[in-house]
Amino acid sequence: MSLRIEAAQLGHLLEVIRNAGYDLLGPTVRDGAIAIDRISQLSDLPQGITDEQEKGLYRLRTQASPSYFGFSAPAQTFRRFLQPPTQTIFWASRDTPGGPLRMRSGSNVDSKLAFIGVKACDLAAIGVHDVVFGCDPNPQRPAADPLIKDQLYGMRRENLLIIATECGQAGSTCFCASMNTGPEIEAGYDLRITEFVDGEHWMLIDAGSEQGDTLLSHLAGRPASEDDLTTREQLLERTRRSMGRSLDTRNLPQQLARSFDSPAWEDIAERCLSCANCTLSCPTCFCTDIEDATDITGRTAIRTQRWDSCFNKEISWLHGGQVRKSTASRYRQWLTHKLSTWHDQFGSSGCVGCGRCITWCPVGIDITEEAARLTAGTEASS
Ligand code: SF4
Ligand code: SF4
Repeated sequence: MSLRIEAAQLGHLLEVIRNAGYDLLGPTVRDGAIAIDRISQLSDLPQGITDEQEKGLYRLRTQASPSYFGFSAPAQTFRRFLQPPTQTIFWASRDTPGGPLRMRSGSNVDSKLAFIGVKACDLAAIGVHDVVFGCDPNPQRPAADPLIKDQLYGMRRENLLIIATECGQAGSTCFCASMNTGPEIEAGYDLRITEFVDGEHWMLIDAGSEQGDTLLSHLAGRPASEDDLTTREQLLERTRRSMGRSLDTRNLPQQLARSFDSPAWEDIAERCLSCANCTLSCPTCFCTDIEDATDITGRTAIRTQRWDSCFNKEISWLHGGQVRKSTASRYRQWLTHKLSTWHDQFGSSGCVGCGRCITWCPVGIDITEEAARLTAGTEASS
């Protein structure tokens, strides 16, 4: 059942979640951008702030609307709290040369995290990572091999509370509607919030889990009327129509598979700086590198995991050489993995249509334009 609440109730909800022992992580303004960071109260949210996003452009501006979630994809994703950019995997030490080796796991995953204001694209990205890291909670799909389960991700994910928000407007780099990941949110949340500013400032809030039901019981509101639910449908339809980008996904994996020798890859490489921004801003990228180091005594060793990128040359180092030496081959690897081979590997697209790789590419390379160009004319042979 949907509950209609006054927007100010959101502050009470944050307090209830915090009192339940959760660390709150949500959108907040940092350095001229909407970042995902620790928050503690309603005033930390970017109220009255919206964003402009275009190829290689991101800027905030204030707006008359008092909405808390009136922006599109934040500059950062929630990825860094489930798979931190740097984390210690384990420590190994011995007190004397040849003595027994003591091992202990590195990262602390004791805290309970609450993600506040997760947009549809970012919620879909968490679902993608659940599969990648062997933690897919969907009982309809075959259980992952325990050997591929990422234990640290799994521990953080088990304690995670998700408060999702549906978008009331789309950015000009958004294309979640094409990827079937938004703007409506249908599953994978504990609570779902839809925000409205139409003379009144109110929210529809739904529980998607037992935990969500418990939280909902702390809020004062009334059951949503038919009119309220219709207003939500209309809002989502407006958002869907205002998507700044689109991508035709029909036969896309198959068409891209045939584009291996396209001259377009070299053309993209003329512009691509191989800077890795697109991968580091993407909510579904997951590549990491492992680094082992010892201290000066040689008695303690630390294994550290760091985010890596398929745009870095070293990542394809194999048997004494790089497999993907050229920028063209690295861009091809990235785009075809996202939109084509991800389906074979993980059963879905690796792109959720958040548009961040378009916004944060310093030379304005647009995944939707490049995919359309690469597949133009290949339909006939499908
Ligand atoms: S590939 Fe680009 S649009 Fe797709 S999920 Fe990653 S950053 Fe978002
Ligand atoms: S596509 Fe753009 S963001 Fe990605 S590596 Fe190339 S220049 Fe950097």
